[in-house]
Amino acid sequence: MIRIEADQMIDGLAESPRRPGRLLIQGERIAGLPGEHSEAGPAPSAPRDQVTLALPGCTVLAGLIDFHSHLGIDTRRARLGAQVGVPEPEYTAHGISRMQEDLRAGATTLRLCGDRHGIDLLLRRAVDEGRVVGPRLIAAGRAIRSPRCAGGAVASVLTDDPDEIDRAAAANLEDGADFIKVFVSDGVGDPAVEPTTCYYGEAHVAAAARRAHDAGRRVAAHLLGGPGVAAALGGGLDVIEHGWFLTDQDLDLVGRSGALLTLTTGVLCGPRGHAFERTPEAGPRLERLAGRALETARKVIARGLRYVVGTDALHGCLADELAWLVTLGETPMRAIRAATAWPARALGMEATLGTLAPGRIADVIAVEGDPLDDITAMGRVRLVVSRGRIAYLRPSEERQ
Ligand SMILES: [Zn+2]
Repeated sequence: MIRIEADQMIDGLAESPRRPGRLLIQGERIAGLPGEHSEAGPAPSAPRDQVTLALPGCTVLAGLIDFHSHLGIDTRRARLGAQVGVPEPEYTAHGISRMQEDLRAGATTLRLCGDRHGIDLLLRRAVDEGRVVGPRLIAAGRAIRSPRCAGGAVASVLTDDPDEIDRAAAANLEDGADFIKVFVSDGVGDPAVEPTTCYYGEAHVAAAARRAHDAGRRVAAHLLGGPGVAAALGGGLDVIEHGWFLTDQDLDLVGRSGALLTLTTGVLCGPRGHAFERTPEAGPRLERLAGRALETARKVIARGLRYVVGTDALHGCLADELAWLVTLGETPMRAIRAATAWPARALGMEATLGTLAPGRIADVIAVEGDPLDDITAMGRVRLVVSRGRIAYLRPSEERQ
């Protein structure tokens, strides 16, 4: 049994935090949330096998869910094409260390939007079976894009043929993919290409969506904007990844369709995203694009659209996304839910993940300070418990 004692707890259910923040973990589950008047203090009757973690000055929260990442790349650095081109053993080793960096920063679940060599599925199994310490992985397997698309270094199925998309989706599902990932639009990496250039239309998305939906799975698309928005939603798209350049009309459509948006701000807007080389020539263009992306995210928040957040492989940096949300007008409480309760619901896992209540899986973190007062506290992780096991514990003296 593990007992956590902190100043407060944000359980993801109540509108205000519980004080003090006390939590009991038994096995891989949350066993209870002792209140102020029950089991207060270091109980003299504490079971002999109970470990008590006293974390004064800290806030306890549900483990974070990074809704968009990849193990094969690290977008804190550039040259993604070279990153995915390394030999398979190196690719796998990088993936293991990156997911552990995410875990230490409080991300107890990663949704992986396309990785090569099947390492997302391989590592998902290794983590689930307890052979490797890491966050829970939700994996798309092989991502699918047009051979004409300049972006999408992580994709491994290149086709323009809806029948081939159908077969690739079926093969991914057969291998155990949790969802299907396609690239509808281009990216921002090539200055010669308008990032809202779309290569997939309704028929392409529908081919993937039919397969996915038949299997009870979802289809997600890398989609920055452009004509592909209406087409993809018409084809049955469930999740728009990034959506940086969605217009007001696009946002109307998204709102009506009920599709989910994954906001990934830091990879384009900083401070740690360096996937796109800011050369003197490229810098001003990227600045302009970042400004547009921030404006779109601000509108998503102001309209109250359904959204979650992801880092897009800024490993260990999910706290930056929450800081961006607050900068763009979100409340700290809702920003925290965008990385806990909301993605858990989007994954259909709200009964076990994303909130703190007895019986839930014990994916629990503690951060130093009060994130409702200062959202950057989310970056000062002191404790990470993953499925009831202490995965990371940092003494208070040591500053990150
Ligand atoms: Zn991505």
